[in-house]
Amino acid sequence: MKKAYLGIDIGSISTKGILIDQNNQILRSSYLWTEGSPINAVKRVLKELFKDKFEYKIVGVGTTGSARKLIGSILNASVIKNEITAHAIGTSTFAPNVRTIIEIGGQDSKIILLNDGIVTDYAMNTLCAAGTGSFLSSQAQRLGVEVEDFGKIALKSKNPALLAARCTVFAESDLVHKAQLGYSKEDIIAGLCQSVAQNYLNNVAKGKKIYEPIIFQGGVSKNIGVKKAFENILEKKINTLENGHLMGAIGVAILSKNEKEREYDFSNIDHIQFETTSTFCNRCPNNCEIIMVKKEKKLIDSWGNRCEKGELKIC
Ligand code: SF4
Repeated sequence: MKKAYLGIDIGSISTKGILIDQNNQILRSSYLWTEGSPINAVKRVLKELFKDKFEYKIVGVGTTGSARKLIGSILNASVIKNEITAHAIGTSTFAPNVRTIIEIGGQDSKIILLNDGIVTDYAMNTLCAAGTGSFLSSQAQRLGVEVEDFGKIALKSKNPALLAARCTVFAESDLVHKAQLGYSKEDIIAGLCQSVAQNYLNNVAKGKKIYEPIIFQGGVSKNIGVKKAFENILEKKINTLENGHLMGAIGVAILSKNEKEREYDFSNIDHIQFETTSTFCNRCPNNCEIIMVKKEKKLIDSWGNRCEKGELKIC
């Protein structure tokens, strides 16, 4: 039977799943909203990935994203990696010469600089939502348009409105102000795309030298208005990859190929009960909060203890 590898990128907004073969060819993919429950989101992703007969055996699993540790424990992943490594590996596999990765996701954004496939510098912004997908979605709702249509509407603008987008509060009030001044929807949307790109360059890239080739990825890379805004500001070509919104998941699936093979079977996972709870170790004033993951009420993983005294016995 041929071998396949599963990668899961689980963030607070979206969950991505990917299956690749030994040659890094994408066999199947799934992208859905996390909806506040990473465990359920992963169960739904797996259901979608395996809804049709799958002629491969899964021998490696990788997880990344903000809930990577939790989901890694639940799936018994062979590799658990941070988003920077996952994105760098995924992107440089498909674009080996890439020097700059601009990544803007649902709620965070990052810049990764590489040379010869090695990460030389990076920065992440997880605090300010002003330049991310969730910000664009909320503004689209306010303007009564689908966020998917943002890009093509923005490209119709001849006079983009100048918007303060350093934070959502300023952006929203500025948006109302510009609409009152009579700016067209196209100009306001083009202004929003412009401010997302500018916000990213000011707050995430923060003066880092941006070398070409540049790859723009993450959910927001699907927005051609933001892509165009980056091109206008940087006066450089911005490239996107076909599966750019899945690169984190692809990266960890590729990394799992380096690990010892295991055999996975997810056919029953929908019926398994997982639960996360926490407790405090009060053996010293640090009072560490210890996160516990249980499968059918049995502890399968725990973390958060700063020393071995707080280690919990895994069943
Ligand atoms: S785990 Fe170690 S450091 Fe943390 S509270 Fe317990 S004894 Fe202190």
